[in-house]
Amino acid sequence: MIDSHAHVGFKQFDEDRDEVMIRAKKAGVTGWIEVGTDVEQSRRAVAMAEKHENVWATVGLHPTDIEGLDEAAWLELERLAQHKKVAAIGEVGFDLYRGGDLDEQKLVLEKFMELANRYDLPVIWHMRSSDEVDVNEVLIEYLSELYESERPRGVMHTFSGNMEQARKYLDLGLYLGFSGVVTFKNAGELIDIVREVPLDKILIETDCPFLAPEPHRGQRNEPAYVKLVAEKIAELRGVGLKEVDQAITSNTEQFFGIKTYGV
Ligand SMILES: [Zn+2]
Repeated sequence: MIDSHAHVGFKQFDEDRDEVMIRAKKAGVTGWIEVGTDVEQSRRAVAMAEKHENVWATVGLHPTDIEGLDEAAWLELERLAQHKKVAAIGEVGFDLYRGGDLDEQKLVLEKFMELANRYDLPVIWHMRSSDEVDVNEVLIEYLSELYESERPRGVMHTFSGNMEQARKYLDLGLYLGFSGVVTFKNAGELIDIVREVPLDKILIETDCPFLAPEPHRGQRNEPAYVKLVAEKIAELRGVGLKEVDQAITSNTEQFFGIKTYGV
């Protein structure tokens, strides 16, 4: 089992990072993707991936952090993206939840998409709408207008759109990432989406330290808990955990072009 989206480099893990790794292994979580959100976290992700066989890094800039993107920062991100244990570009995308300028975010996004295409890396998409603008609609329209050769592979991290948007993303060749949100009592339409999406298009993730699944909701999340997400997906689809685990682990390895060892 692989957690496809974790932030173990965040300060919330400064006190017990090693124990978190041990607990993940004990839970059967053999590895994870350490996701960069800015220059510093991308650098930390690469360092973590260098140190641990079953950790891979991504290089990205969270859409709420694009203000710091000057020339020096971009050069550093470009440099990091070429590291052999970098498995994706991201997280990048649109986030208007607390304000933000969509046009500015789009300009930055285009730079990262060009980077992903240049090094043949998939993109981890972060999408968070405001009350006024549904950013999933914006992205679907944008990606639909591109030539297929311009459109990188990608996963919608913690997918939070509706059924129609899920189908459109699948048509665009994207994967959907499900997190602890699927275990929440107010998951709503997401439950139907989890049941319908082809198993070979699903990735699982924690987004730790955020979004802890039930029964840990509200507490700090960690990679070990991705097992609870897998269990919920198995339950919702009426299949065994083993089947879900094997399929999703294989998806994850293919998607990122990685191979976990010592499973
Ligand atoms: Zn994240």
